[in-house]
This record gives sequence, C-alpha cells and structure tokens, in this order.
Amino acid sequence: LPLFRSVDERLERQLSPRAREALLQVSKSADALGLVAYLVGGAVRDLLLDRTSEDLDVVVEGRTGEAGVAVQLARRIAEEDITVRFEAFEKYQTASLSWPDGFVLDLATARTEFYPRPGANPEVESASIRLDLYRRDFTINALAICLNGPRAWQLIDFFGGAIDLSNRLVRVLHPNSFIEDPTRIFRAVRFALKLGFTIAPQTETFIVRSVSGGLHDLYGGERLRTELLYLLAAPFWLEALLCLDRLQALRCIHPQLHLDNRLRSGLEWLSGISLPLKVPAAQLRLERLLLAVGPEAAWKLPLDGAARQRIEKVRSLCPELPRWADRSAPALHRQLADWSPEAVLLLASLEEEPQREHLLLYLGLREQPRLLNGKDLKELGFKAGPTFRAILEAAFAAQLAGTLQTREEAIDWVRERYL
Ligand code: ATP
Repeated sequence: LPLFRSVDERLERQLSPRAREALLQVSKSADALGLVAYLVGGAVRDLLLDRTSEDLDVVVEGRTGEAGVAVQLARRIAEEDITVRFEAFEKYQTASLSWPDGFVLDLATARTEFYPRPGANPEVESASIRLDLYRRDFTINALAICLNGPRAWQLIDFFGGAIDLSNRLVRVLHPNSFIEDPTRIFRAVRFALKLGFTIAPQTETFIVRSVSGGLHDLYGGERLRTELLYLLAAPFWLEALLCLDRLQALRCIHPQLHLDNRLRSGLEWLSGISLPLKVPAAQLRLERLLLAVGPEAAWKLPLDGAARQRIEKVRSLCPELPRWADRSAPALHRQLADWSPEAVLLLASLEEEPQREHLLLYLGLREQPRLLNGKDLKELGFKAGPTFRAILEAAFAAQLAGTLQTREEAIDWVRERYL
C-alpha cells in the first residue's frame, strides 16, 4: 500500500478544511472528556486509496463499554460551538452534529452485535473499538484512524485491511459473515466493482457456501432491496448481476433466478431506452428480474403499490402475448391504453425482436399530442358523455394508425362519421 504518506498528510491533503476542523474539534473534546474517538468505515478506506471523502463517521470508545459516550461527546462539542446543531438518538447511542454550512458528522458509540439468528436484526451492546470494527463487513471497511489520546492520528488496523487495500481485495473478517448478514454478498460485489477490486477467493467460497444451503431463501426485506437497488443503479449493474450469478447469489432474490440470455437481453434492452420515465432505471431492472421468476419472489422484497401493480399487470398479460397477431399501434392501444410507459416497457422487455420494437414504436406514437380534444368536439356540437369519449378514442386510434395527420383531417373525419 502506498502508505508512504502519513495519516496526517492524507488528512491534510484529502480532507476539506471544513472536515479537518470538525475532526480537530472531536479530538479536543474527546481528550477533555477522557474518551477516545476514531474515524472509521468508508472515509478511512477512501483516504488510504487517495480518494476524497466527506461522509465522515466517528466511533467513540468509552471506558470499558460505557454506554452513550457518542452522545456525551457530541453534546460537549455542541456546547463549545454554539453554531452546531446537535441531535441525539439515545436508543441507538448515536448522535449527529450539523454545522450551519451544511457539514454533518455522525457519531456512534463503539458497539458489538450479536445475531440471534441468520439475517435477523442484530442485538447490540457497547464495546471496545476492536469489537466495533470486528462487526463490520470487510477488512477494507474495518480500518480506523484514532483521533486523540496517545495514538492520535495513527492508523488502527486489527484485521489486515491495509494489506487487502494494497492487494485490492474484498475480504470478510470471519467465515460466518454472510450467514449473519446476506446483504454483505451484494455489498462485496458492489465494493469489488466500484473500487476495481477482486473478492478474495476464500470470501467467494464463503458466499457460495452460505447461499447454497438455501439459508437465505426465506430472507428478504428492506435492507436486501436497498443493497440490490444500489447495485442495479450503478454503471456496472450488468457486471454485478453476472458476478452474483456466478456466485449463485441471485438465489437470495429467488431460488430459481438465473441471468439467462433472455433475462440479460431484456435488461440490456431496457437500459438502452431513452424515454423520459417516472420510475428510476434501477427500479425497472429490479422489476424485470422479478418478472423472470414466480410471483412469490415479490414478497421477499418490499415493493410499493405501483411497482406491485405493474408487475402483476405484466405477468397477467404475458401468457396471452404469443397470440397477439396484430401488432399495429391501434391494436396495441386497445390492450394497453391505460398502461403506464414503464409497464409497457417491462412487457416489451419480456418479448423478442421485432415485437419489442413494435411496442416501443407504439409508445412513441402514443406520446404524441392528440389531434383532437374535448373542446374541439364541443365546438362541433357534441355533448359531454360516454360517446364523447368514444369518439375521442376512435379519433386517436385513427391518428395512431396514421390515417389522420392534421387537426383539420381529424375534424372532417369526425364530421363524416358522427354528425
Ligand atoms: P460508500 O462510500 O459506498 O458509502 P461506506 O463504506 O461508507 O461506502 P456505508 O454503507 O455507508 O458504506 O457503511 C458505512 C460502514 O458501515 C462501512 O464502511 C462498514 O464498515 C459498515 N457497514 C455497513 N453495512 C454493513 C453490513 N451490512 N455489515 C457490516 N458492516 C457494515
């Protein structure tokens, strides 16, 4: 590792003056209270990788596991600097400090975690910095920089994180890591691809072993969805899915989920669409993944009502698709008039070429402004009512078919047919 630069020098060069000042305040106040504070997590990793980081997490170690020391320290800093807004979360023994310029610092009391059962929320107890770092996901995320006391500005590396950083390896701290928390599988892939690292071979074995037993088949929830969406939102989303597939870890989403050619082509096609959409690309990718397997996959990942409806709509229409002989825009419109663009795209992503392109073409046509509106019909003497709507829809169908191209043509067309 290019540790030729000292920690001081890195803090000096890579942190903003704002962040340095905040850390100095932490250092001074921790000394005054007889506590020890550490910079931990992603910020330390990024500093050692010569990246800048403004997302600073501080862990505070009390005297033999004293509880609530992060809150004590944060309160002290806020007392000394009245411009700082202080918020305590006593239940979690954490606190947050925000400066008027928007700079935020999160402080947590050093703690250890026990997992009563795999995938469950951990039980927590205040502890030493060593145990706090031991509960973390990877060695490269388990480094700390001591901020005060006799070891001030030293790198704390209990688990070989610095060597793994220099060898560009993502490595867990113990064999049970993925059994305790399967979201770490997704995190391992994310860090490997984001940083250009490799998952250590033994860590890969731990992943495969933890997944193959079917242990995670019942596990789901908010955190899994969040980590999956992070991956699906990244520029490397396809590599991430390929990697998860290779590690058999798509099984965490559904036991039968595999990145086969059909799924891959559907996802890639979706990603190439440049229509303005209301649903983020990552969410659509997630829904496409869920459409590749049975409906029971959806309950593992909390989805909002709109997403659920989209998936169910597409799923219900899917078996009928091969029987749709007429793919003209008016014919598609008869089936899909009330479908959102996102739902139509999902449906298209389940199809092959050229059917997909027909649906895309239809979407494009559907977005064009209507030649005729209700005001036009009123001017022609029609009264609002069910036929009113039927006429408008019929005119739009003729527009989609290309029969009508101007407003004048549309008005004449209505006159001929309905007056
Ligand atoms: P990024 O720069 O991508 O945000 P980060 O390392 O800051 O990376 P966070 O998700 O913000 O990532 O997590 C902060 C720290 O909390 C991590 O560095 C890691 O030490 C710890 N952590 C987060 N999630 C887990 C987890 N599931 N299991 C164990 N430790 C975790």
